[in-house]
Amino acid sequence: MVKAMGRQISSDYNGRQLVLIGVLKGAFIFLSDLVRQITIPLEIDFIRTASYGSGTSSSGSVRLTKKVELDLSGKDVLLVEDIVDTGLTLDYIIEYLRKSGPATVKICSFIDKRERRQTSVPIDYACHVVEEGFLVGYGLDHAEDYRHLPEIYHLKL
Ligand code: 5GP
Repeated sequence: MVKAMGRQISSDYNGRQLVLIGVLKGAFIFLSDLVRQITIPLEIDFIRTASYGSGTSSSGSVRLTKKVELDLSGKDVLLVEDIVDTGLTLDYIIEYLRKSGPATVKICSFIDKRERRQTSVPIDYACHVVEEGFLVGYGLDHAEDYRHLPEIYHLKL
């Protein structure tokens, strides 16, 4: 799935100034696999928002704890997320990124989880669509556990 997404992104952004922005910490494994499947030039940066902490449901309040350092003006930004649930984190990040004057901002997420979606933000590229559940592994944690697992698991509490 990541290979196919890399091919699609390489074709869609051919000739553009592509910047991938990974959302820490969860997207670090997906981003590192994805960039190795993209065959056009690109830049990489990271952003970090305060996460769920040790719980498994969104508080709805998002806080930026690491800003983007690259100049984004006139560039084509692709935000790389591990999982989108309510969409509130994405909404907040997109608004923040638009202030830097990028040409475009699109979203790519390893998992598009529709269970609690509260916004209409479109996910432009997704590897998997799931309806529900709290998932861990492949970068996704629960209270900082399980990020290193090479596959995705459904955590049953
Ligand atoms: P949203 O703001 O869309 O509700 O949540 C986005 C963030 O919440 C994700 O980037 C991720 O950090 C966390 N999150 C949402 N659903 C899950 C899940 O099923 N498992 C894990 N580990 N984190 C999740």
